[in-house]
Amino acid sequence: MTTTLITGANKGLGFETARRLIAAGHTVYIGSRDADRGRRAAEELSARMILIDVTDDASVAAAAKTIEADGGLDVLINNAGVEERKPDGGVYGPAEVTADMMRETFETNVFGVVRVTHAFLPLLQRSAAPVIVNLSSGLASMSRVTDPGTPTYMYPGVAYPASKAAVNMVTVQFAKAFPNMRINAVEPGFTATDLNLRTGVQTVEQGAEIIVRMAQVGPDGPTGGYFDAEGRLPW
Ligand code: NAP
Repeated sequence: MTTTLITGANKGLGFETARRLIAAGHTVYIGSRDADRGRRAAEELSARMILIDVTDDASVAAAAKTIEADGGLDVLINNAGVEERKPDGGVYGPAEVTADMMRETFETNVFGVVRVTHAFLPLLQRSAAPVIVNLSSGLASMSRVTDPGTPTYMYPGVAYPASKAAVNMVTVQFAKAFPNMRINAVEPGFTATDLNLRTGVQTVEQGAEIIVRMAQVGPDGPTGGYFDAEGRLPW
């Protein structure tokens, strides 16, 4: 039996990933920072619910303690993420971004990933086939962001792509340090969720594809990589 925790799984890509992994036989913890939203989502999927705010040390430590007492963890999906938006839905470009905005985005997208991974490492190390999937973005790709004429090149924001580039680096460094684990970064593609005010062009079913695949990667599968549904992405 594979036990899986998905942070930020009360909606969006995390919720769809939970649905698919439950169908594939995983025991899934829906991670949610809000008890009511989490309970509703878990009831809908007949999943377990765990309260976890990835920006809060005490919340993350309590979640790890509960899941450890329940029997441990095999797969961690660091999915919780934020993208700062203006009231009109636009993103903050280089002329507007502040250190505080950067800090807020990094608190969830980067420090959250490290906080949760650090707390769950002892549990994952006791698993026979530990897996970590980190939600990156195509906007994390230095190659794409600097390739004129692509949609990625045109994206003007700073905090979000910088945070996801940091997620890629964290992924690589953890993968090298823990060769017994499969640790990969994934780009779901531009998906209609609350994160982008539903402007994404893919469905959550399409977006969850690579997350679900990398959550099920076997011990001889890739590690330290950066993938979308079509394959490896350039860093
Ligand atoms: P979403 O629908 O807005 O879902 C984000 C989830 O993260 C929500 O459950 C949210 O909880 C949770 N969350 C935010 N801050 C949290 C915190 N401090 N602690 C715990 N949970 C927190 O967005 P999504 O598109 O599914 O995003 C999922 C992941 O995919 C993110 O990492 C995002 O960057 C990545 N991604 C998305 C796209 C896309 O096009 N949608 C593309 C590339 C990568 P609340 O409901 O409580 O706010």
